[in-house]
Amino acid sequence: MKKRLICVLLVMGSLLVPQSALAWNYTGHEVVARIAWEKMEPQTRQRIMALMMQAPADADLASLLPADNRPLIFRQRDLFMLAATWADIVRSDEFPQRKEKYHHSIWHFTNFFWRQQNGMAVDAPELQPEKINIVERLGFLQASVVDKKRAAGMRGIDVAWILHLVGDIHQPLHTSARVTDTEPKGDQGGNLFLLSPKETPPREAKRLHGYWDDILNKSFPRNGGETDLAYANRLASVIMQRHPESKMNARLKQGEYAAWAQEGLASAKTSVYPSWLKRFQTPSEKYRKQAHTVAEPAIALAGYRLADMLDRLFSN
Ligand SMILES: [Zn+2]
Repeated sequence: MKKRLICVLLVMGSLLVPQSALAWNYTGHEVVARIAWEKMEPQTRQRIMALMMQAPADADLASLLPADNRPLIFRQRDLFMLAATWADIVRSDEFPQRKEKYHHSIWHFTNFFWRQQNGMAVDAPELQPEKINIVERLGFLQASVVDKKRAAGMRGIDVAWILHLVGDIHQPLHTSARVTDTEPKGDQGGNLFLLSPKETPPREAKRLHGYWDDILNKSFPRNGGETDLAYANRLASVIMQRHPESKMNARLKQGEYAAWAQEGLASAKTSVYPSWLKRFQTPSEKYRKQAHTVAEPAIALAGYRLADMLDRLFSN
C-alpha cells in the first residue's frame, strides 16, 4: 500500500513519507502462519524448511531461524511464523539493495473498485485492478514454488511470499478500493480514510487500513513480558478454538484465489464503512467489535487455507 500512498501524497504536493501500512501487522501474519503450521503435515513442514533454508543470503530469510538451544522443530516453527512477515521486512529502506531485489509493493493487494449508491454497494467498472496483483501472484507462486527447474533457494523465497499473501488476501482492505467524491480513484484500501484529526501530519496520521491491520492487538491485550511469538502462539490457539477447522472445511476453496478476494471485498462492502464510522475520529468500541467479528474468522480461515495449499503443493 505504501507505494500507492506515496504517489498520491506526491500529487498533493507533499514530500512527507507516510506511515508504513503493513497489511495485518506482524501479529496477524504470525497468527495465520502458526495456525497453518499446526495443521500441516510434518512432511510439508520439512520440505518447506529445506527450501527456505537455501534462500539467498542477501534475502535475510534463512537467518530468521532463531539460534538458541531449543529443539530444532520449535525453532523451525518460529522461522515459519517470522517468514510470514518477511515480505514486509524487505520493505525497509535501511537495506536498499535488498529492497530493490525482493520488495514488490503491488503484490500485496488488489483493487476492486466500488461505491455506495443510495445505501447500496455497487461496482465501479470504469476502474480496473492492476494486471499484477495479489490474486494473480498467488496463481503464479503456486506454480513457481514447485517448479523444480528453479533454484531451491528461490523456491524458498516463493514460500515466504505465499505465507504472506495468503494472510494479506484475507484482510478485507487488501481487496477493496472504495470510490467516493473525495476519492474518485478509490481510497487505496482505506489508506485515504483518516481516523486522526485533519491537521495531523501525514506521517503520523491514523488510517482505516492500519486500524484493520492492528485489529488483533486492539482486541487481545498482551500479557506482561510476553514476547511477540508467545503472543502470536496464544492468539492462534484461542482463534483455532473459537473457529475450529471442522467448521471451516467446506470453505477452503483451494486454488480459488479470486473467490478468496471476493470474500474480503464483500466484508469491505458490508462491514468496513458503516455510515456511523466518521472520518478524522477514533472509531468507537462498537466499531472495534464489528471489525474484530469479521477479522477473527478470516484469520482462522487464512491459516487453514494456507495449510491445505502447502500440503497439496508439497505432497510429492
Ligand atoms: Zn502485505
